[in-house]
Amino acid sequence: MSYKRFLCLLTCFLSLISFVSCHVWNESVDKSDVEVKEMSDEVSSSQYEADETGSIPQSGESKTNLCPVRNSDKTVNGLTFTAQGDGSYLVNGVSEKATNYDLYYSKTLLPDGFVAGKTYRLDFRDTSITGQLRVCIYWLDQEGVSENLLLNAFYSTNFTIPENAKGLLIRLRVLAANVVIDNAIVKPIITAVEEKISVPGPMFTIIDDDGCYRYYSDLLPLCIEKGISISTAVVPVQIENRENGTTRFWMSWAEIQECQSNGVEVLSHTYDHASTAVVETRTIDEIRDTYQKARDILEEHGIYTNVLVYSGASGGLAKCRSAAGDVYDYAFLAGGDVDNQYGYMDPYNIWRYKIQYNYDFDAEKMKSLIADLAANKTGWMVWMIHTSDSKWCVEFINALSECIDYASQLGIPIVTASEGASCYSWK
Ligand SMILES: [Zn+2]
Repeated sequence: MSYKRFLCLLTCFLSLISFVSCHVWNESVDKSDVEVKEMSDEVSSSQYEADETGSIPQSGESKTNLCPVRNSDKTVNGLTFTAQGDGSYLVNGVSEKATNYDLYYSKTLLPDGFVAGKTYRLDFRDTSITGQLRVCIYWLDQEGVSENLLLNAFYSTNFTIPENAKGLLIRLRVLAANVVIDNAIVKPIITAVEEKISVPGPMFTIIDDDGCYRYYSDLLPLCIEKGISISTAVVPVQIENRENGTTRFWMSWAEIQECQSNGVEVLSHTYDHASTAVVETRTIDEIRDTYQKARDILEEHGIYTNVLVYSGASGGLAKCRSAAGDVYDYAFLAGGDVDNQYGYMDPYNIWRYKIQYNYDFDAEKMKSLIADLAANKTGWMVWMIHTSDSKWCVEFINALSECIDYASQLGIPIVTASEGASCYSWK
């Protein structure tokens, strides 16, 4: 992807309130036990298509307020969109099948205030509906005949209108059949951003999931030797199993506290590491409670974090994302295999590279990722590793050591998850 072509940044707000629906995502495999490798955690990046033609915004200048929403009422596939007179719509009903609602469509004109070549901001202000609705934006070429997908997103992101765009289609998509929508208020507002945007330099973070004792024996010494933090994402239920003598596989509270006192970052990896199948039986409220419980228990032991690492995979992701938004500031996915980009990163769907499974802990492959990051001059690369994996061995430690040195040689800072997230989240 090229991220270097564009100049200006505006802001688009899409506010969606009070929404009830069935779940939409249904594509993951069950993952029940962390001692089994987490290969089924994979998250398809196509699920999160952001902006194939995207760019990094460099500056903003306009102050114009924009609102591309049409003024007419409409019923589409069982959903009624009623204009409220202030640029917002009340949406009600049960969709009979996947519903598209065109907020703006012209083959020959861009909406007022939109300019070809400029970058805009789409912001989902209410994340409780995440996964249920998407905003799709297509641009139309010189002849106005072909519709080219520009953006297909259910999270806040930037998008850039191509230089040769003549028209635009902005479409709200209800994703699944039989989605129940109850008093959703849809209010797209686009406003300009006044301040200059400066894009952060490349950063690198490593997260070890699950809190296995091998983190303490193998990675803590490496962190101390290199003077860095490899984050450890821990699970209260598993720690309790260590404490009550059920198993020695996980770190104890004392070991985790020793990690923290040596400067490594401890993250929340949910309360009970529920499988995807279990998560799917839970309501958003129940999921939120388990996330809060994890945070509370960690705090009782002197560990404070605003970062969640999801357990399991994309199943139930919409609910998980919504729940995480109420308890944490950031949340990491188990997959993605791409760098996170400033302006394009969903703070509750932060991508990670599956180093164990897709890169085989091959030091040369891993170093090539670091070299690419350095060449891009921006981007936040996050690696997911598992000392809990049965294949974990000393060669992996050596490969990590080599990669840490290599990043240092290339001048790429190794940062904590919370540092990287705060630098790469678009404000
Ligand atoms: Zn895990």
